[in-house]
Amino acid sequence: MKKTFMPQFNDQGELFDHQLEGLKWTIAHAYNGSAFYKKQFDKAGVTPDDIKSLDDLSKLPFTTGKDLKDGYPLPLLSVPEEKIVRIHASSGTTGKRKVLAYTQKDLDDWFDMFARCYEMAGLTQMDRVQIAVGYGVWTAGMGFQMGCERFGAMAIPIGPGNIDMQCQFLEDMQATVFCCTASMALLIAEEVHKRGLKNKINVKKMILGSERCSVAMHTKIKELLGLEDMFDITGMTELYGPGTGLDCTKHEGIHYWADKFILEILDPDTLGPVPDGEIGEMVVTSLCKEAAPLVRYRTRDLTRKIATPCSCGNLLFMHDKIMGRSDDMIILRGVNIYPGQIDEVLSSIPEVGSEYQLHLERMDDGKDYMTIKVEAVQGFDPADTDDIRNKIKRTVHAKIMVSCDAQICTYGQLPRFEGKAKRIFDNRS
Ligand code: ZN
Repeated sequence: MKKTFMPQFNDQGELFDHQLEGLKWTIAHAYNGSAFYKKQFDKAGVTPDDIKSLDDLSKLPFTTGKDLKDGYPLPLLSVPEEKIVRIHASSGTTGKRKVLAYTQKDLDDWFDMFARCYEMAGLTQMDRVQIAVGYGVWTAGMGFQMGCERFGAMAIPIGPGNIDMQCQFLEDMQATVFCCTASMALLIAEEVHKRGLKNKINVKKMILGSERCSVAMHTKIKELLGLEDMFDITGMTELYGPGTGLDCTKHEGIHYWADKFILEILDPDTLGPVPDGEIGEMVVTSLCKEAAPLVRYRTRDLTRKIATPCSCGNLLFMHDKIMGRSDDMIILRGVNIYPGQIDEVLSSIPEVGSEYQLHLERMDDGKDYMTIKVEAVQGFDPADTDDIRNKIKRTVHAKIMVSCDAQICTYGQLPRFEGKAKRIFDNRS
């Protein structure tokens, strides 16, 4: 039989049974292994014996990014130090980084999960995977690399940036899969186009991590490189790293590895569940993580649950694309706006390209104003500028319920990024 990294459950009931077992194990393990968790559980008045069903999850206290920073440098540690074989840290720019520890089993679980992503994207052992993400203390490079080796394809570890070298390896090594951030994907696609390399390279698939990619951007990149398919991969350092979910070839949502963690989608203010289909914060509880288990960890990432099963037939549950972080939320005249929503709206307007910026100003009248600066698609007629501008204003108002102004730039006018794109310019304070 062909080796698979997919879990073998016959139905969702078996998956739920597996989750309950993992939850019971995690709570007992955290309670007995970590002074931090014992204190948290005692405060909330719960003991491992209280976990009898998956509904008992709601009795458990939340864990936050602040708890990780307070416990610096080895927060949430639930095993003796001799069992730790590695640490990774988040690439946070302000204050202390979040450091997470791994046992050998944690690493094995992570690489198996990542190998599952490559499997879901339809790779084979004959694929050549060019990895253009950061290597080092953060999880990206290591995840893509070790997952690729675990899966059995050929890894080509280039690292981020370095466009000349990327192009050279794409041509010489005939890489079939390219892994990077969405911004880097656009950059490399435009560069390949500019250098006339499209027919000399062999990239069929792209796997994009760490950053939201709009439909318009997907389409542009796919077209410039002649790709067969593109996938969004999810993950965060706190929960192993990238590789904990991927959209399958049907692209109806992101399958996440529900045999390894439980996902709740909660209202960030009330911390109660949001109705299915509404945007809320992802809260995760790990099911087999040894060194630093997560119990109801508030990720700050926003998404929606997708209730309908995927037409691919895979039992693993799905959530929507990440809509942004609750920290990135903009409040404009009392309305909460997530950058991902703007993205969604712009993607529905065919004349609009993939790059955009949000500019927020406070005017002399004391009111806040938002201007969306957006690139038009290639070959658009400047005479249509006013029409597009009005279309954007109307659509944003209809879908997000705020007024805005729009400014149309020509294709290629807005900056490209090798890392994460900067899109919000809040000049209000
Ligand atoms: Zn699917």
